[in-house]
Amino acid sequence: MDRYEYDSHHLWIQRRRRRQKRQRLLLAAGCFLLAGACTAGAFLFQKNQDPARPVRSSQPPIVIEAPSPNNPGTENPVPKDSGSVIIVDSPVGRLLSEADTIAAGYDYDRAIDLLKNSEYASEPSIAEAISAYESTRSSLVKAKIGEITHVFFHSLVMDNSKAFDGEDDSDGYNQVMTTAGEFEKILQAMYEKGYVLVRMHDLAYETTDENGNTVMKPGTILLPEGKIPFVMSQDDVCYYPYMSGDGFATRMIVGEDGKPTCEMKIDEETTLVGSYDLVPLLEDFIQQHPDFSYKGARAVIAFTGYEGILGYRTADKYAGSETYEQDRKEAARVAQCLKDNGWELASHSWGHLMMGEIDMDRFRTDTDNWENQVDSLIGPVDIILYPFGNDINDWHPYTFENERFSYLYQAGFRYFCNVDSNPHWIQIGDNYLRQGRRNLDGYRMWKDITAESEGRERKLADLFRAEDIFDPDRPTPVPEM
Ligand SMILES: [Zn+2]
Repeated sequence: MDRYEYDSHHLWIQRRRRRQKRQRLLLAAGCFLLAGACTAGAFLFQKNQDPARPVRSSQPPIVIEAPSPNNPGTENPVPKDSGSVIIVDSPVGRLLSEADTIAAGYDYDRAIDLLKNSEYASEPSIAEAISAYESTRSSLVKAKIGEITHVFFHSLVMDNSKAFDGEDDSDGYNQVMTTAGEFEKILQAMYEKGYVLVRMHDLAYETTDENGNTVMKPGTILLPEGKIPFVMSQDDVCYYPYMSGDGFATRMIVGEDGKPTCEMKIDEETTLVGSYDLVPLLEDFIQQHPDFSYKGARAVIAFTGYEGILGYRTADKYAGSETYEQDRKEAARVAQCLKDNGWELASHSWGHLMMGEIDMDRFRTDTDNWENQVDSLIGPVDIILYPFGNDINDWHPYTFENERFSYLYQAGFRYFCNVDSNPHWIQIGDNYLRQGRRNLDGYRMWKDITAESEGRERKLADLFRAEDIFDPDRPTPVPEM
């Protein structure tokens, strides 16, 4: 394909013929339409897609008319859901809309500051908005940090027919992966229950106590009554070579709008750009539902280093290859883009190892490899998500007597995650935070679906009903681990 093809369902973005045509398309279609089309395009390859599955619609934006020059727009009501509103040419309207988007993400302080410090602070509509935000702020409830759940995913299956094709990898994908359709349903279900995404760094923060010691303290998360904070992470965002051709994105890139997005290689000639994995799909969802993200929070994105990160072959073993230098440059740029957009980055160890089991020499080498090959690209990180959930200690608090903890601590890690299927497990030690994470994959959902018939307890009931989410394209039963 060497041209653009655009219809009501599919937006094909060609890599070769580009800039001018693309800009024309952007102008013509508008960002909102584009966002909807990209998402629809994302599901182009789900051949057995559930026909009832709602494709995210490209709702036309609400346009508020420009006020007359004599009226700065103070009488225009600004709808609360400003995520889908374009205000045309009204300074006050635009200001209110901006404040409203910030307030939708629960940052009432910043919304109030923005209005108070503006040149329109004395306008009645601005004063009204300030007092409304102040009133909401005073009704916020402090979240119980110890009850915050953490869910995680791997790379999302974008093409079910390729992932579940009966080849060797199929069973593994069926167990540990989540399909894009399932992910979108999970977001919607959790959103409807009142879940709000927070950062790991919102749960606890490092500070200096009165004796000058560096300590970890629980954070303060303030949300309206009924809202439930949760953390999300994604493991192995490396797009490993073995996944190629199996229906996954191929790498992450910086989109034209400055936000992270994905490439998906379909065949030798065709590479599509769009929402082909968790990062852009979650960006799309928050764009539509700004109240799903607390103060701009995004998920934690974790990498190993033995192949490289984000689909770029940045590991030392590729040094000297034709693409190595360029890949390192691009990977660093995408990592920075993720950080700039609120994503937290994390280690998943360098070699995807059992960090609690391997011998200490290997443990040290692996941690050093992480620092040399990945930190050097993405900057220091302080979160580690243990591969296989294999923790370096049992439930007892970490101490410096544990040489693995000491080694990770000196390497800069402060937030440590194992895997635990209970709704929440958090331990805030003197100088670290530890949290259990829950896999929302085919295996876990199948366990919930078969729970009653096998006399087990459902583990996901606080989040959603697995039957409502489970992709009908999955072969069943999902194999035992
Ligand atoms: Zn992993």
